[in-house]
Amino acid sequence: MEKLTVSTAIERMQEKFFRISDAIWTYAELALEEYKSSKLLADTLEEAGFTIETGVGGMPTAFVASWGNGTGKPVIGFLAEYDALPMLSQKGGVPVHDPVVPGAPGHGCGHNTMGTMQALAVVALKEFVQNNGLDCTLKYFGSPAEEMLVSRPYMIRAGAFKGVDVVIDCHTGDDFSVAGGVSGAGMYSFIVTFKGKTAHSGGDPWMGRSAADAVELMHAGTERMREHTPVTQRTHWVTVEGGEAPNVVPDRATTWYFIRDIDENLPDRYQWVLDCAKGAALMTQTTYEVKFLTGCHQRHSNTALAQLIYENIQAVGLPEYTAEEEAFAKAVQKNENVPQTGLNYRMRLVTDMPYRGGSSDVGDVTLVAPCATLRFPMRFPGNLPGHHWTVTTAGNTSIAHKGLSAGAKVAALTACDLLKKPERLEAIRKEFDEYSSEHPYKSFLPDDAEPPLGWNAELMAKYRGKMEEFYSEP
Ligand SMILES: [Zn+2]
Repeated sequence: MEKLTVSTAIERMQEKFFRISDAIWTYAELALEEYKSSKLLADTLEEAGFTIETGVGGMPTAFVASWGNGTGKPVIGFLAEYDALPMLSQKGGVPVHDPVVPGAPGHGCGHNTMGTMQALAVVALKEFVQNNGLDCTLKYFGSPAEEMLVSRPYMIRAGAFKGVDVVIDCHTGDDFSVAGGVSGAGMYSFIVTFKGKTAHSGGDPWMGRSAADAVELMHAGTERMREHTPVTQRTHWVTVEGGEAPNVVPDRATTWYFIRDIDENLPDRYQWVLDCAKGAALMTQTTYEVKFLTGCHQRHSNTALAQLIYENIQAVGLPEYTAEEEAFAKAVQKNENVPQTGLNYRMRLVTDMPYRGGSSDVGDVTLVAPCATLRFPMRFPGNLPGHHWTVTTAGNTSIAHKGLSAGAKVAALTACDLLKKPERLEAIRKEFDEYSSEHPYKSFLPDDAEPPLGWNAELMAKYRGKMEEFYSEP
């Protein structure tokens, strides 16, 4: 009966949140540039009675929204993301690749629905808690830059998760699911800048020292390193600066690395890659500097929480889709040459996730509080790629709204269970305490690391003006 109440509240409130999600979809702000998106969500929660703390962890677009009742215990956290991706602009509800603004960012991972889903869940929950006179604190963690895996390690370092008993995370899915156990890869992100000397490449090349050569040799070194590291490793890089004309010896060149592996392999691997940088500098008589951007752990999802979330996925069930929505899904699937199965989302509890090389900074949260990720249906089923226009095109449609609503219900119902059935929370905490005694959290961030503010400022500035005319009102 109570469960019905919170679901009914979500249905009563959701129209406004669909408009918020659609507006954030049009803003499509890149990591650490989510000024409008985070403000819209923070303002919405403030209006609903939550207290807002902004600038968390030194990031202007990070915030925590809190509201408590009675004793304020337990403290239930909700992770919320809202950043977009470069190059993924796409018109909504169109089954072919057709950007709104060519080259501009877009919500190719559906994060517009995620931050909004958790906002809807906590606003509905607040009403439920008040009506039932329950004790608790609800904490919404507005987390920027998930796509750069930046915010959570810095928010944790700033103490934002202290005293949180349990955390419900969410992500868009091509299914309706939740996973328990270890999954994904840990990751370090850092840039190496080499400095040499310019000279005329034809006239007096012996006067120059090429920073671009150093970058190439560092890449060659790490390429050889791969052969002798476990198969769980992923090592990739892009040259972000490598000279501007062949006739000027480049005195500056920069490479950006992601190194990924299981948590225990990463610290030593990082040292090996730094040795490749050192070797490259020696060979080219250049110097180098390393700027650490972020480091995050694998996910260590709480299985007892995953089980509880799964029970509520089953209770909520799959959304019902119209013939038009099914036809749209099949048109997208047809154009991408995957089976035209429509919106046949699976509901599942995953307990033995095969190793994949992707990473998320949610991993760090799973080591400081029991946490699991609820995946709600929003992307098209059929093994389509992530970070892709087919995700953007669904992001402001009724399909996304239905997924958002279903996800909010599961998150809210799971929180209701945590409040009404203390034995479930106790079992979750017990699993976490046992696990963390064997896997104590140690941040991968060096002490002097700072969030890379402004990393995307130039790229965002390039497109924001052109995107503005397509902004929708919340
Ligand atoms: Zn994502």
